[in-house]
Amino acid sequence: MSLQEKKIYVMANQKNIALIAHDNQKHQLIEWCKKNKSVLEHHFLCGTGTTAKMVSEHTGLPVRAFNSGPLGGDQQIGARIVDGKIDIVIFFSDPLTAQPHDPDVKALLRIAQVFDVPIANNRATADFIINSPFMNQNYERELLDFNKVTTDRAKNL
Ligand code: PGA
Repeated sequence: MSLQEKKIYVMANQKNIALIAHDNQKHQLIEWCKKNKSVLEHHFLCGTGTTAKMVSEHTGLPVRAFNSGPLGGDQQIGARIVDGKIDIVIFFSDPLTAQPHDPDVKALLRIAQVFDVPIANNRATADFIINSPFMNQNYERELLDFNKVTTDRAKNL
């Protein structure tokens, strides 16, 4: 792919942040949200169903809830990434427990990578993201020009 096929997407200073935690990590995410409440309250929060409900109840932060992860919540968040409506994903996944919705988890990680969306899979990464100066500034994500890719593919296949 040449550089001409790249497109810039600007993340505004107020970010759309998705919160997801597998069951064994939910309390760690709640503690992290409490610790970072003064930053998080300046952004828009959403999350998979149970995580959103628990974070909201324990921190008082408003969190828009999608379906529970195993019932399609990760896919809803992935679809919103594709639509440019999620800027950051904080996803405390459980590396030691098999998940029934593992294909959805993989799909979410992949689509975040395709759309150059920062995604934290553990507390240390989440700390680095939340303390980044980009949290309060515009940030330019570099995406493939998907329209051009589709046009070229339709022409050349
Ligand atoms: P939950 O989903 O927040 O509804 O528990 C999280 C997940 O397992 O993906």
